[in-house]
Amino acid sequence: MDIGGSNARVALVHGARLIAQRSLDTTSERSATGICDDLVLAAHELRQVANAEGSTVLAAGVGVAGQVDASTGTVIYAPNLAWHDVPLGACLANAIGIPVFVLNDVQAAAYGEWSHGAARGASDAAALFVGTGVGGGLITQGDLLRGCGGSAGELGHVTIELDGRECRCGRRGCVEAYAGGWAIGKRAREEVLARPEEGRRLLELAGSADALTAAHVAQAAREGDSLASTIVRAAAAALGAAIGIVANAFNPCMLVLGGGVIEGFPEMAAIAREAAHKRALPAAWRVLRIVPAALGDHAGTVGAAAWALRTLNRDQKS
Ligand SMILES: [Zn+2]
Repeated sequence: MDIGGSNARVALVHGARLIAQRSLDTTSERSATGICDDLVLAAHELRQVANAEGSTVLAAGVGVAGQVDASTGTVIYAPNLAWHDVPLGACLANAIGIPVFVLNDVQAAAYGEWSHGAARGASDAAALFVGTGVGGGLITQGDLLRGCGGSAGELGHVTIELDGRECRCGRRGCVEAYAGGWAIGKRAREEVLARPEEGRRLLELAGSADALTAAHVAQAAREGDSLASTIVRAAAAALGAAIGIVANAFNPCMLVLGGGVIEGFPEMAAIAREAAHKRALPAAWRVLRIVPAALGDHAGTVGAAAWALRTLNRDQKS
């Protein structure tokens, strides 16, 4: 299961393959109990699909867009779902009757790219997903790095500039405040207001400064617009700085780059790579391969399933 702030995907997963899937609405007007009921219903349907094929569902892995206590399966805080201390793991396990393992959704996506995607086979890997926000995950020595409180891998909020631009998290200078889709849109709005002549093409595309988004910046940059290109280069350089920090701190063999912003700005990866090279120490840079994500928006479900299976096997051994 991959549970986000507007919808959830429940899938029957085998390796990297989604054999069948259901999606459901998770908008915050809905209660956690109602969402749990829908997830259970979808899980029952998919178990029937598995049974009809002569397969057995061994466990359920759940990635949730929020902070998770993996030992209990409780979602401590999920801002986009307006959840506080929701015992999701217990609710699901009681109703489905198989072991349920809950983790953060971006950690799940990172685990998916490592277990079945672009970083397969690497002992140490990092993933950076650049969409509206910037999320990440870390694999160290073949295991997902969860950290003391389960929040390891929040790579979007590494500081790349002291007292820099304001971030959605309330802090300043985070890489997300430069490279996230929302931040690219915000930067573009500021620039066209400050320099309307140079921002003419961006304004034409959006209709007004208020309506400007990262997608308009991407289109203008593709057309060769100078202001748009400047904004993209700045975002990419910021991303590169964050990659340098990750390389120096964790020494991964592979760093997976994915997400809508990376896909929308094809030149971003190369610029980020140059900027990362400048910041990474030689020992970190020498072994690092920066690769594009391979699983797209299936990474979360594939990763949650793989992590559940891995945890189940480990629990049975011990
Ligand atoms: Zn932040």
